[in-house]
Amino acid sequence: MKSINSRRTPIFRNAGFDLGDAKTTKNSFDNELEHPREPDNYIYSRYRNPTVVSCEEKLMELEHSEWALLTQSGMSAIETAVSIFQRGEKTGKWLFVSEIYGGTNSFIDHVLINKRGLNIERFYPSDGNYNLDDLEEKLDRLKPELIYFEIVSNPMLMVSDAESIIRLAKKRDIKIIIDNTFSTPYIYKPLKAGADLVIHSATKYLSGHGNITAGVICGNDDSLMKQAIEYRKLVGHMLSPDDAYRLESQLESFQLRFERQCENALYLAEKLDSHPNVKKTMYPGLASHSSHKIARKLFENIAYGGMITFELEGNSDKEKGERRDLFIKIVADHIPLIPSLGDMETILLPVEPVWGDKYPLPGMIRLSVGIEETSQLDRIIMGALEKLGTVS
Ligand code: PLP
Repeated sequence: MKSINSRRTPIFRNAGFDLGDAKTTKNSFDNELEHPREPDNYIYSRYRNPTVVSCEEKLMELEHSEWALLTQSGMSAIETAVSIFQRGEKTGKWLFVSEIYGGTNSFIDHVLINKRGLNIERFYPSDGNYNLDDLEEKLDRLKPELIYFEIVSNPMLMVSDAESIIRLAKKRDIKIIIDNTFSTPYIYKPLKAGADLVIHSATKYLSGHGNITAGVICGNDDSLMKQAIEYRKLVGHMLSPDDAYRLESQLESFQLRFERQCENALYLAEKLDSHPNVKKTMYPGLASHSSHKIARKLFENIAYGGMITFELEGNSDKEKGERRDLFIKIVADHIPLIPSLGDMETILLPVEPVWGDKYPLPGMIRLSVGIEETSQLDRIIMGALEKLGTVS
């Protein structure tokens, strides 16, 4: 077939690739890990696939990383990233901060602790931030070999002082994995600050249309890359070429989308914060947020993300819950209740049904702000707040 005048990456749906002869087969298998980006010969799509590699190259550009490896979900990216530091019985302690995605916390409890018997410690915030003196004391006492945290937490949007945590960890030769899903490389690049690995749920902002489940691990260290390639291959965490193709296409609008989402979120957060029907608005861009200073330092005033969590006023938990349900009902035709984030359209999630044990706050709603016109968001969200009426 003649070459096609297309600028789009073809979707190679091959399970296996034609290696031609025995010598090429031997060379391909022998040298499989010697190629940082793409192998001389593709062997089998669970190992590497050209459509997936093409998307990985776009992600490298975004995170300014030496390599990027796609997986079929954010969870499989996390599982791969932490597992390459596991060394059988020789594995030391790992420290996870507490304010991380609930699924990651469940993975720690059910898989890392209960099934793999790993020695996991957690670090909790005080007064809405991680206390660095306490962290330093904990690092010296526990001597973990790995620390894991998120730049922006869920649902309270606490911002970790990543620069300081990385500095404390590096001084002690502790490996650092950061989940950059909420902040995205648009506002923060953890590898530049010295993290060893960065992971994303690409299901969220990177794909941005609520139509792909994917994850990515980015790094600069060659040996970690080889270990991650090997691990992904052996456990079968590879992303499908179809999803990689769609993710690559959707990445083209990532910066535009995220910029707009951040602008809209700041606009809405300021409006919510001054509305009499709102008790509290959590947004790192607001001076009232516990992590605002850290956010300003870390994000260098570029933007503060596209997520807002706010709590409705009410005289009792019962009343707050009723007002929350009414708010959700009023906006339902325009703002669906979807347990995800980062989509182009604004979506919401009530906090208490999801995080009730940790945050029993019936009036609280998490908003993932989309790219709509601000006038439309005003009409829908502020309009719904008006319709709730004042609290007696
Ligand atoms: N990390 C964060 C911060 C998340 O919010 C999520 C999912 O919501 C994940 C990781 C897991 O990603 P996925 O659902 O793509 O497996």
